[in-house]
Amino acid sequence: MSADDPRRAEIAANLADLRKRIDAAGHAAGREPGEVGLVVVTKTYPAADVVRLASLGVTDIGENRDQEAAPKAAEVAQSGVAVRWHFVGQLQRNKCRSVVRYAELVHSVDSVRLAQALADAARRRSQESTEVTDHPGLGVLVQVSLDRDPSRGGAVLAASDPDVDLDRVVAAVAGADCLRLRGLMAVAPLDADPDRAFGELAGIAERVRRQHPQATVLSAGMSGDFEPAIRHGATLVRVGSAVLGPRR
Ligand SMILES: *Cc1c(COP(=O)(O)O)cnc(C)c1O
Repeated sequence: MSADDPRRAEIAANLADLRKRIDAAGHAAGREPGEVGLVVVTKTYPAADVVRLASLGVTDIGENRDQEAAPKAAEVAQSGVAVRWHFVGQLQRNKCRSVVRYAELVHSVDSVRLAQALADAARRRSQESTEVTDHPGLGVLVQVSLDRDPSRGGAVLAASDPDVDLDRVVAAVAGADCLRLRGLMAVAPLDADPDRAFGELAGIAERVRRQHPQATVLSAGMSGDFEPAIRHGATLVRVGSAVLGPRR
């Protein structure tokens, strides 16, 4: 990739802008510098853009569909570039065995059954691996539904269906020896006030951390709402279009 690659220059400019806005939002919220991490979501964009991002210092890449992510991760690895892959989309149980092969952190576990399927996949993966590692398990965030509609993804606080009850999903992840509960993730509902939605999320995160102090990650905020998310304690923002351009 040449230094005068115009696509790289475009991404570099967007990234510089975004980093400035993240720093400003963090500063305004009284957060420590470096407290808010960035995952660049590359769905619909090619592996070449991931390589460009890595060359610009981006270490964490998000994808929302296994069918797209698995070959892209393989292509990026082939080119000798190492990044951490985050799985951020709705996950089907039959995709778990594929996702555990490349993902470092799965943001979107939202049912007890999915937690069990992911734990099974992570266990098989560790058994077939010959690498000697003290890997403490696959990182998992439990996705919280802020509109209480589990069909749109996310576990629900005090749900009537135990499979999608937030406390039960959290307990299932925390209790699986091949998974490591790292925290929570949420997407603000489309028509909601993001400050209100993320404020509610902050309360839920605090409640979960009382039981599980290791659950320190809060993945919240996308291109359109990462500033309010940072105001309410996001430690990871997931940004796609503000860096890579609008998706078709
Ligand atoms: C696509 C996606 C993002 C990034 O969205 P943008 O609006 O492009 O920043 C973040 N989180 C999830 C779960 C996504 O699917």
